[in-house]
Amino acid sequence: MIKNRKAYLYVMIIIKILSFILFAMTTQAFSQDHPAVDIISTDAGDVEMHFIGHGSLMFQVNDFRIYIDPVRSIGNYDISKKADLILVTHEHSDHLDPELIEDLRKPGTIVMVNKNTASRVKGAKALEAGDVENINDIIVEAVPAYNIVNMRSPGQPFHPKGVGNGYILTIGNKRIYIAGDTENIPEMKALKDIYVAFLPMNLPYTMTPEMVADAALAFKPHILYPYHYSNTNTDELVKLLKDNSIEVRIRNLQ
Ligand code: ZN
Ligand code: ZN
Repeated sequence: MIKNRKAYLYVMIIIKILSFILFAMTTQAFSQDHPAVDIISTDAGDVEMHFIGHGSLMFQVNDFRIYIDPVRSIGNYDISKKADLILVTHEHSDHLDPELIEDLRKPGTIVMVNKNTASRVKGAKALEAGDVENINDIIVEAVPAYNIVNMRSPGQPFHPKGVGNGYILTIGNKRIYIAGDTENIPEMKALKDIYVAFLPMNLPYTMTPEMVADAALAFKPHILYPYHYSNTNTDELVKLLKDNSIEVRIRNLQ
């Protein structure tokens, strides 16, 4: 009887410990307010958006995988997940990693880049602002990305006009805009019908929260992800856009 009672106590203690561990794990999961993947639905299928870090993103539509500015030092890459399409906005080292591009390639992978990158990636196709391509029924549109205000030295912008690209992907009925390294340029503010926008937010290279808010209020995406934000305080952007219909989502994209 005494033995049984001891055994009962041990079992109860073990159950208590296990339920505590389970509780800790679930609260941890629920308190995770930066999901690593978001899904948006389009009439061509769901788009999984993976936030690798900084300017690096991966989108998956059905079995079709798109990497944007893949850079190994920025996040975790599973190179067994090969790319169908790779887009590079420009040649800065936080956006272009030719070795990782080779690792993510399989026969048939299409690589599209800005013109300064073309000579550094074998078989890459250079796109300039205004170019439009149809890859597997996904429309890829290159748009301008450049600085007006922020200069490396007087008269020399960090991102001169005509060099880098942003991209708009039209997938089914949704348009996703990945701005690249840019400021709130007039071409951005004139965009139409953008469902999801990724806008860069770090000084001195791209935009302040005020500049991001100014652009967003002009072209009104449904969902706005600040990205490439380094140490910028994302709360400032959330505050600036709190009284309107744009949904600001903060993810791990420092
Ligand atoms: Zn750059
Ligand atoms: Zn950058």
